[in-house]
Order: sequence, then C-alpha cells, then structure tokens
Amino acid sequence: MTNQLPFWLKPHVSFLNKDSMHHAFLISGRKGVGKGQLVHYLSAFILCNDNDIDVCGNCSSCKFSSLENHPDHHELQVLPDKKLIGISQIHDLRNKLYESSFLGKNKVASLIDIEKISMDGLNAVLKILEEPPKNTFFFLTTNFLNQIPLTIQSRSLDIKIDPPNLEETLDWLTDYPEEDVLKALRLNDNLPLAAKHFLDEGLLKIRDDFISDISGIIKEGKDITALSTRWINEESSINIKLEWMSLLLSDTIKFNADEAKDTINPDTDNISKYLSKHSNIEKLHQLLNKTNSLWNLFSRETNLRKDYQLNSLFVDWERDLGISKKI
Ligand SMILES: [Zn+2]
Repeated sequence: MTNQLPFWLKPHVSFLNKDSMHHAFLISGRKGVGKGQLVHYLSAFILCNDNDIDVCGNCSSCKFSSLENHPDHHELQVLPDKKLIGISQIHDLRNKLYESSFLGKNKVASLIDIEKISMDGLNAVLKILEEPPKNTFFFLTTNFLNQIPLTIQSRSLDIKIDPPNLEETLDWLTDYPEEDVLKALRLNDNLPLAAKHFLDEGLLKIRDDFISDISGIIKEGKDITALSTRWINEESSINIKLEWMSLLLSDTIKFNADEAKDTINPDTDNISKYLSKHSNIEKLHQLLNKTNSLWNLFSRETNLRKDYQLNSLFVDWERDLGISKKI
C-alpha cells in the first residue's frame, strides 16, 4: 500500500513498526502538501489486522478504512458553522476514546488543523496525550507548527513534510506533457497533489474554455444568456469557474494597486492587466463581492434559479468591465 503514497511521503513511513509505534504524531507542512493523505495512510496502517504487512487492504479493518468510515477511527475537525474546534468537541472525543474499540483492536484519533483548537481545548488534548487510553494512536496535523504550544509538540513525534522540488515533480507527473504540468503547478500554488488532481480531472481544458468565455463577455458581451445556460449545464465545473472569476477580479485589483505585481494566474494576466487600467476600482470591489456571493450561494444547495442568477452576474460583468462599451 505504500506504493499508493506520493514519493515525498514515503520516507516518513518507512521507519514505522506496528509493534513499537509512538502513540502520537504531529504532522506539519503547508496546506495541500499531503498531510491528510499521510494521516489516512497511517490510520489504515495502525488499524489493519495484519501485523506483517503495512496495510493489507483485505481485512475488515482495511475495508472500513478504504471507505473512510472505520468505527475505531475518530476524526476531529472544525464544524462547518464554526471557526474553532471547541472544548466540547474534545470532551466528546475523549469519551469515545475511553470506550473499548468496536473491532477489539487499536483506535485512532486524527485531529486536523490543530491550530484551530481553542486554548482550553488544547489543554484538554494535552491531558489526553499525557495519559492516553490504551491502544490508541493520535495523528495531529497543522499548517502552522509555530502556533502549536511546545507542551503539545513535546508529547508527539514530529513529521515535517516538505513538498518536492520542480524537477522531482516533473519526474512524478510524466503522464502529462511538461508544458501542461507547469501550467497546472502555477495555477495550484506549486502544490504537486493539487496539480495532479487538476490534470487528472481535465481541468486544464475547462480552464482554457473559461478564459475564452470570459474574454467573450468582456470583449463582446454577446450570448450571455446562452453562456450562462451552458455553464449551468456543465454543473460539475460551475463552482471552480466562479472561483476563477473571483481570482481574476482579485488579480485585477492587485494590478490596479501595483502594476509590477506578480500573480499566480499568468494565463489571465493579460485580461487582469487590461482591466486594471480600464476599470473603476470601486466597481471592481462591488463585482468581486457579487461574484463571491454567488460562489457561496452555488456552493450550498439553493432553490433559486441558478441560470437566472448567473446571467445577472454576467450582465454586471459585461456592464462594468465590457470593452465594447468603453470605445
Ligand atoms: Zn488490513
């Protein structure tokens, strides 16, 4: 199963032994570097019934793990409507961990983004780590190791994940033309896992279509109704397109403030640069708010007519950014 891990995560698991494993790990590294994937692997590893193989993939535990609903794996993260992980969540977790395990073997608690645990919550975590329940393993992750109290750090083994360099990443993604990989990396903050997902899901083509659609709105303003209907029909990509619209406006606002500014979306730089010179900063901010509101709305279930909402946003874009109207 280790061969399913990306190569830069493998060295972090090669030394592990099921019989003599430390009970707590603190996994750090920037967002998107693969911490979640490593936790997923380590949990499956520690829960697998086979002691000789790292993750057998066939036992009842492995089947639960692969479905991500193992009854002895307790995952804690920020609830959708909250900003922090509160102490009551930690108490609930502790209660579950002190009960015996469902399958009679090990238990795992994974605590994701522990910089988001409240101060009293962290103290409660520390108490659990100081006197851990039997056969229980803790995988803590953080994007910001420097924000984690030393008391927590000293109770856990550190795993710091560095992303691979460009050359290594290109060697890893040889299934795709180098030009596409470089573009996918630039569009994904140079994070290899995100770039791979981007390529695997065919998002590069969707990105090219997006740029041509958006240029059409700005340059010509025609067929807005047909375009919004088409985007709504291509439902799986609608949210990422709204995210890209938002990023395009953010870049435009940045260019407006500083012409020399580098962006991470070089394929839309020409559009952003042009708009930054020819549009009104107040209108840009208003459009950004409208675009973000629609992006939020579409991210949730809504009974509103999506085509109508999107059409109305396109009309605003065309009115405030349209080149044809300015000549
Ligand atoms: Zn197994």
